[in-house]
Parts: sequence; structure tokens; C-alpha cells
Amino acid sequence: MQIELFNTLTRRIDPFEPLRDGEVRMYTCGPTVYDYAHIGNMRAFLCADLLQRVLRVVGGYEVRWVMNITDIDDKTIRGSAPGSPLWRPEMGEQTDDPRENLRRYTSFYEQAFLEDIERLHIRRRDLSAMPRATEYIPQMQDLVRRIVERGFGYIAGNSVYFDLSAWQAVAPYGRLLPIDLASIKPGARIDADQYERQEVTDFVLWKAWKPGEPYWDFELQGRQLPGRPGWHLECSTMEHELLGLPFDIHTGGIDLRFPHHENEIAQSMAGYGVDPTRFWVHNEFLEVEGQKMSKSLGNFFTLRDLLKQGIDPLDIRFAMLGAHYRSPFNFTFAGIEAARGARKRVQEYIYALHEPAPDDGIHVDVAAVRERIFSHLAHDLHTPKAFAEFFSFLNATPATALSAESRREVLHFISELNQIVDVWDIAPRPPEEIPEEIRRLAEQRWQLRLQRRYAEADALRYQIQQAGYTIKDLRDGYIIERL
Ligand code: AMP
Ligand code: ZN
Repeated sequence: MQIELFNTLTRRIDPFEPLRDGEVRMYTCGPTVYDYAHIGNMRAFLCADLLQRVLRVVGGYEVRWVMNITDIDDKTIRGSAPGSPLWRPEMGEQTDDPRENLRRYTSFYEQAFLEDIERLHIRRRDLSAMPRATEYIPQMQDLVRRIVERGFGYIAGNSVYFDLSAWQAVAPYGRLLPIDLASIKPGARIDADQYERQEVTDFVLWKAWKPGEPYWDFELQGRQLPGRPGWHLECSTMEHELLGLPFDIHTGGIDLRFPHHENEIAQSMAGYGVDPTRFWVHNEFLEVEGQKMSKSLGNFFTLRDLLKQGIDPLDIRFAMLGAHYRSPFNFTFAGIEAARGARKRVQEYIYALHEPAPDDGIHVDVAAVRERIFSHLAHDLHTPKAFAEFFSFLNATPATALSAESRREVLHFISELNQIVDVWDIAPRPPEEIPEEIRRLAEQRWQLRLQRRYAEADALRYQIQQAGYTIKDLRDGYIIERL
């Protein structure tokens, strides 16, 4: 099916075709591993996951999906420094090597991130690479060198900067978000990785080392410039190394349009001579009471916070996927609860499809339903319309009324849909779990029997039976069954 996507570059919904036949190459700006990610960050990764799954399942493409790990930037350096409140005992002792400290610190949060995305069913197997920025330093230095050689970068105070005035003379800047070019202060420079649109100036490609910070040696134009890459440079390099330029789709949250993505475009064009990608896809924010969820506002939850409250991560996945990615998602506990109910309803429907069908079961046109639902997904990932269509089908078509053939077809379709949504269990209802308390009593009884204390053992058997379970004794053990 033809996929259409809203492209930030053109500001309209465009038909999508990959550059190479049948294969989509897609890059997602990954997490900065300086702390646990909050669920606002997770929305960005869930939106990217939705996109790559729709490309595979609805578009029929192979997808090469790369998401980087930002393990060197202002925040990770700050967090791994001596005395940082974000340093945890699990990371071991701080050493006197800042690079080793950075490695210990970021690998802890990287591991936490991998566990979090796994819980949200963002599958590691769908990612063809998760490059760490620190593993591509020589390639980053090569890009800095190219940019400087082509006249779009310069050294100042042991750092290297991108020369915006030189670039502006030959190419547009502000392609993703309009920028007031008159506000550019010639010669002004910014070192921070993140900054506002009002601050548009020459930005840093390579940052000079400061005492106590991790650094890599770098020689440029006969000068020794120990330091580390700027954040924007990292993504430009890893895209080039792992996907090749140009590639098909670049994703991220809308806050990354400027300066991060704008600077990526400028760097890749200035250094490699290639406009890096044709489709820029940006997700809106996850909000709490009308404000972006963020660390700086303090209005955030991590996935772990929510798990501790007994929330199932798949209910979070389902709730987030249910909102259109270009609309703000308002996070509320009531919303998660509603998603839980809706998800469970579908699960019960799936179990019912596995039950024996009546002889006079009705037949439904599953192909038509599939066509409608998939075309909503193909049209700029419109999950709200797709889900509404799906639920109206379920409401109008009780599973118990369906013929055996229709049940098979509906089940097949739901399992296809679940390759995208990935929150249901397609198999028949599993045998009921034996409650912990019953298992404990059964084990006690078994021990009593081994001690030949039969009267006490029988009393426990009776107690277990009263609770609705029975025990079958085997020669060297027992099994518990529901009565
Ligand atoms: P970071 O780890 O800060 O680089 O952010 C990772 C991703 O999360 C980026 O794509 C951000 O745009 C995105 N992001 C940050 N906050 C939110 C939010 N409240 N809602 C949705 N996406 C967000
Ligand atoms: Zn990036």
C-alpha cells in the first residue's frame, strides 16, 4: 500500500518512496544516556517504532533502522563528573580517568534504556544498529576536517565552529523551521549543545577540552585540539557511516527541528556535499496539564516510576499509539486506565475467536476491514482513525457470532495488526495461573507427607480444595489443578 507522510521539509503530506527499491533506511535520534529516560522521550521512540512497523507491515518494505546512543555531550559529561548526584553505586567507584568514568556512567543508563524499550515492545531485533557516539570519534573528526577544508568551519580558542555566514552565502539555513536570518550575529559563537532560535549563531563542531573532562586527541591544520565532538556532529557522522547518504527518513521529537536537525543538514551538506535525507518526520510532545513533559520542568515520570505503581508498560504503549503522532499526547492516569480496558477487550475478543464456532456462524468481509484500517495507517500513521475503525468492527461483530472460517480470517488479520501494535497475545487463553498462596500450601503439604505427618497433610489438602484446587500426587512430586 502507498505510504504517505507529513514531511517537515515540505510542510505537507507527501507520498513516500524509498531511494532504493524495497528498502527503507531510517535514522532516529536516540537517547542521551545521562539519566533514566522519561515517558515523554519514550513517546519519540514509540512514534519511530510505529513508523518503521507501518513501513514493514503496510508498506511491505524492508527497513534498516538505526537509532544512536548519545554517550558524549554536555549532560553526560556533567553527570559523570566527580560528585555528580546522578552517579550511582552500581556504576562502581569513580576512577581518575574521566573517559572511563563516562563509559561506566553512560553504559549504566544505556542498559536501563534498553530494558525500558524492551518493556515497551520496541524490539532490539528491529534495530539494525544502535551506534554509540564514542565509537565513531575518528569519523567525526573526519567530518570536521571536511567542513573546514571546504571553507565552512574554523578554529577559535581550540574549538572548531561551523561558519554560518559562509554557509548562508551558498545554501539556505532554516529549512525545517523558518529562522529570522537578520538575527544572526556575525562572528558570534555558541558552545552549548542545546540552544534557542533567538541564539542562532556559529555552532560548535568540536569542543576544546577543559580540565577534568574526557577528551580525544585531534590534529587539525597542524594544531593539537584535544576535545570532543559537538552533539549535532555526532548524528551527521553516524548516519553517513551506518546508512549512507542520502537516506530515506529521519525522525525525532519536534524540539529537535532546531537547532539539532537544522545543523545536521548544514553539516552533512557542507562536509559530505549531500543533503542527508528527504523525509523529516517529527513527533509532537507528550504533555502533562498542557506542558511538555521534561526534566527541567520537573513534571516527568520515568517508565520505572509507572511500573512501581503497577502499570503495565503495554497499556502505556497502547495509549500512546492511540494518539496521532503529530498531536500532543496528554498524559493522565485515567487515559492509561482507559487504554487498559480497551486493550483487554481486544484480548478477550481474541480468546473468544479460539473457541469452537456455532454451525450457523456468520461470515464477515475481513479483507474490506483490513483495507480500511491499513489505509488509515498508510495515510500519515493515522492510528486514531485506524483504532476507531477497528473497535467499531469489534463492536458490530461479536466473536461468538462468527463462523469458523471468519474466525480464522479475523484472527489472521488481528495478528497482522499486532505486528504493528504489538500489545496482544494471539494464542488461545493460557491455562489459569495457580495463585501463590495455593502453591505454598501444596508445597507445605508435600513436605508434611514426606515426613509422614499424614493427618496434617490431609488437612491442608482439604483447605486447598475449599479454595477450588486439587492436588494429584505423583511418585516424586505433585501437580495442582483447578477443580
Ligand atoms: P533526549 O534524550 O533528550 O535527546 O531526547 C530523546 C527524544 O525525546 C528526542 O527525540 C526528543 O525530541 C524527545 N522528547 C523529549 N521530550 C519529549 C516529550 N515531552 N514528548 C515527546 N518527545 C520528547
Ligand atoms: Zn540526532
